[in-house]
Amino acid sequence: MSDTAAAGESRGAPAGHPDDVLRVRDLSTRFFTEEGQVNAVESVSFTVRDGEIFGIVGESGSGKSVTALSLIDLVDSPGRVTGGEVWYRDADLAEEFRDRLPDAVDGEFVDTRRLPKGVRRALRGPAFSMVFQDPMSSLNPSVTVGEQIAEAVEVQRRATANPRRTRSRTQGYGMGKLIADTLLPNRGFTSESSMNRAIELLEQVGIPDPAERAHEYPHQFSGGMLQRAMIAQALAGEPDVLIADEPTTALDVTIQAQILNLLRDLQEQAGTSVVMITHDLGVIARMCNRVGVMYAGQIVERGTLSDVFETPVHPYTQGLLGSIPDLDDPAPRLQPIEGNVPSLLDEEMGGRCFFADRCPKAMTDCLQPISEYDADPGSDEHTARCVLAEREFSEADALPPDHFDRNEEVRGDE
Ligand code: SF4
Repeated sequence: MSDTAAAGESRGAPAGHPDDVLRVRDLSTRFFTEEGQVNAVESVSFTVRDGEIFGIVGESGSGKSVTALSLIDLVDSPGRVTGGEVWYRDADLAEEFRDRLPDAVDGEFVDTRRLPKGVRRALRGPAFSMVFQDPMSSLNPSVTVGEQIAEAVEVQRRATANPRRTRSRTQGYGMGKLIADTLLPNRGFTSESSMNRAIELLEQVGIPDPAERAHEYPHQFSGGMLQRAMIAQALAGEPDVLIADEPTTALDVTIQAQILNLLRDLQEQAGTSVVMITHDLGVIARMCNRVGVMYAGQIVERGTLSDVFETPVHPYTQGLLGSIPDLDDPAPRLQPIEGNVPSLLDEEMGGRCFFADRCPKAMTDCLQPISEYDADPGSDEHTARCVLAEREFSEADALPPDHFDRNEEVRGDE
């Protein structure tokens, strides 16, 4: 495979809003496992605007985190981004590549998937940065928190000076490096100024006594403090787009609220765009301007918060919203969505709506691949991957309740 990740004829950047900083089109990621090909992300498209919080919501296994990793080129083997475009707005980068890679540039947008690998790696930090789910397993337990943040600062400084030098000292930290560090304790990767910047960042995210805490190890921090430290590290490159992957899942409720407030403050003060990934509709309702609902590797509905929460079209979105307790009108029982998320194995998915086997409104029209339709003529934001965006439900066309059970039996007999 060539150094440049994407191939094929360029269609240019997708149309969008003038404030878009990111336009993603048809992003697809596959995992090639012994059991078969797993379609973890399937033709995902969305945009993110300057200074907004865009939410991606869905249940576990729906492809949210893999979408985020695909954006920043961090999908590991046996996975691979197999298609799609990630158009990022950066006038300087566009100018740099306009003549060298004309297919990768459209106005001020650059398709990062067509850029050389070293450049894509250098974009991690100043363009995109990520706050991972579990800070305890994301930070190195043998290096102080301040040193790890200072490293991120230093990596960004070196990458700015030379885009090829983006590897940090703790990447691949093993026995050899441990021995070298023990024998030569002063062979520092970081400098006094990068450590001072790390302390500033710790202060910015609300760590008390940051100068002292910077010299402590991850196990000396509480869960909430560690998540703040992770956010500080993600801010080291002053990113345009901060991806927060379930940043509050491992925290108790009061600390969750503090972390969400911190992310909101950072977004408002620095104008950073945030992609908020969560399974929690409450977090989406509280934080986001626009939202995409993911199911089985696809964004099945997207729009503004009011589009999706007040006039949902896709039965999966309706099911998610229907399963939230309403304190003003408590139902005797919550309405669960029957069935389970499909396996995402290519051979089991079939060329149909992926939600059809759980959908109470499945019709014969649903037994074919479903495109994204405009869900509301009055809103240019609201789309749904569902035939109900185009037509009414009809009992006459409804699939019999045992349609998929019978197909399973036939497959089992073969
Ligand atoms: S396309 Fe059909 S099966 Fe799929 S969600 Fe819409 S109505 Fe249900």
